[in-house]
Amino acid sequence: MPKINANIFNKYVKQFGEDTFATDGTMLYCKICEVKVSADKKFTVIQHIKTNKHKRLLARRNKPAENKQQFISQPSNKKYVFSHDLFDKLVAKEKQVFLKAPSRVLFFETEAPGVPLPPEPVLTRWGSWIEATYYYCQYFKQVRDVMQHFDSNDAVSIKESQTLLNEI
Ligand SMILES: [Zn+2]
Repeated sequence: MPKINANIFNKYVKQFGEDTFATDGTMLYCKICEVKVSADKKFTVIQHIKTNKHKRLLARRNKPAENKQQFISQPSNKKYVFSHDLFDKLVAKEKQVFLKAPSRVLFFETEAPGVPLPPEPVLTRWGSWIEATYYYCQYFKQVRDVMQHFDSNDAVSIKESQTLLNEI
């Protein structure tokens, strides 16, 4: 009686999930193991799910999905997880580095021609904060390159700025 079987197979597909089983109406098929599963009785289906082979293949199949999720929540490129806090610190440090330090300003202008000096945004003014963000999006690499040339023993602000730039 194929009709009854088809109903049973469909029931198992629904019960255990369409990711696990499929049916064409004449048999129950395990998508994980890619084999036909004996579905005469419910316990034979459960028995199949409990086999080591099925478990192993299921674990392997689930793995890439986990990795994918991790990738989304933790982007490998740290530049995209630019936190406000870190950014505020960076802007403040860069300001200290170049404040009243004409030799550093000169060095910056020589090393990164055409790149404007890091801005000094008024952090309470949203517009200037956005400008600063835009600046670092554009010139992040150049600023970091120049900062690497500075002697970290020269000033605390340089050392801290270098650390921040490497963290970002
Ligand atoms: Zn299986």
